[in-house]
Amino acid sequence: MKKIAVVVSSRASYARVKSVLKAINENPQLELFLIGAASLLLHKYGNAAEIMERDGFKINEKVYMIIEGENPTTMAKSVGVGIMELATIFDNYKPDVVVSIADRFETICTAIAASYLNIPVAHIQGGEVSGSIDEKVRHAVTKFSSLHFVSNPLAAKRVRMMGEDEKSIFVTGCPSVDLAKEVKDNYQFMNTEYLYAKYGGTGELVNIDKQFIVVLQHPVTTEFQNAYQQMHETLMAVNDLNIPTIILWPNIDAGTDLTAKSIRKFREEYNPSHVHFFRNLAPEDFLALLLRAKCLVGNSSVGIRECSFLGVPVVNIGNRQDGRDRGENVLDVKHNKKEIINAIERHLKKNGHYASDTLYGDGKAGPRIADYLHTTNPSVEKRFVE
Ligand code: UDP
Repeated sequence: MKKIAVVVSSRASYARVKSVLKAINENPQLELFLIGAASLLLHKYGNAAEIMERDGFKINEKVYMIIEGENPTTMAKSVGVGIMELATIFDNYKPDVVVSIADRFETICTAIAASYLNIPVAHIQGGEVSGSIDEKVRHAVTKFSSLHFVSNPLAAKRVRMMGEDEKSIFVTGCPSVDLAKEVKDNYQFMNTEYLYAKYGGTGELVNIDKQFIVVLQHPVTTEFQNAYQQMHETLMAVNDLNIPTIILWPNIDAGTDLTAKSIRKFREEYNPSHVHFFRNLAPEDFLALLLRAKCLVGNSSVGIRECSFLGVPVVNIGNRQDGRDRGENVLDVKHNKKEIINAIERHLKKNGHYASDTLYGDGKAGPRIADYLHTTNPSVEKRFVE
């Protein structure tokens, strides 16, 4: 039996690995050891750990590692705590492989702790390009990893360019698209009644059986000082447009305190009657909501990744997703109220979805990744391939 440890550190990581966790559990040759960490465990960020447990996953260890402050200093210190805690857990459990997900700051703790313990790291979502600190973290984790499960051939090419062995790179597609496919094929029950009964949220009730938009915007860690104003521009666009809007609170990152402050101030000062706020929805519910929305506005990777498969129109703001390969569903704009309004209006005029794009996968990544975890025996030693 091969022991596979997976560290899930945020709602974003959960959405990206859920289908892999399921496939590992279904493989009798693999034993899943699940570690819940960081913002996944925090009420303030929607306690995605509870959602995981409700989905039937047993969390074997919990790692509280977030130092309060949501600024660059506390982010660096949180990484330090994460490395120390995870090293102990890996040492006790002795997994055969550790799975590290994507590019958020928590995932570098996983890669560093496992590597120093001579445990091979398998990385999901390497070889992609974006803005923010995530860009550095993603490529650094590639260098710590012995197995690379990438979204598409372009990502595979970039991982090869970083000196990684061809035989360690597998184009599996991104597991987040597995959920998008499931929702697109089988998830027709999302409606106003279901949404509010399950999640509550705050603000006026927005009827999602009619026209509405969704806003999800995070700070950009490399320009975190601007997070308040960046969010303000988007909120002023929402205010002027006066279309029913669902706003999700941001992820934890340097600058989240400012993004959240901007939302709070907007809520108090404008008391908007067309806006409702949620902390966090279960991944399938969130995607089902997007599927009904006229467009998604903000800078979440979900706009580039899952929405390209779902064909949902997206207004992508600022440089957080710079360089990420995207489908024709995305209109890129600056943090500027006028540009944001124009782009939303263009999507509303089109009044329809885009063709589904398989840029990030075909919806079968989870079983492929579990299969490779079973059949490959990655070595800890690696050499740069010239
Ligand atoms: N997500 C979710 N519930 C939510 C909001 C987001 O499950 O309420 C998922 C979303 O579907 C996506 C992932 O979280 O797969 C990443 O989105 P997010 O904007 O949180 O993070 P990013 O990747 O932009 O850092």
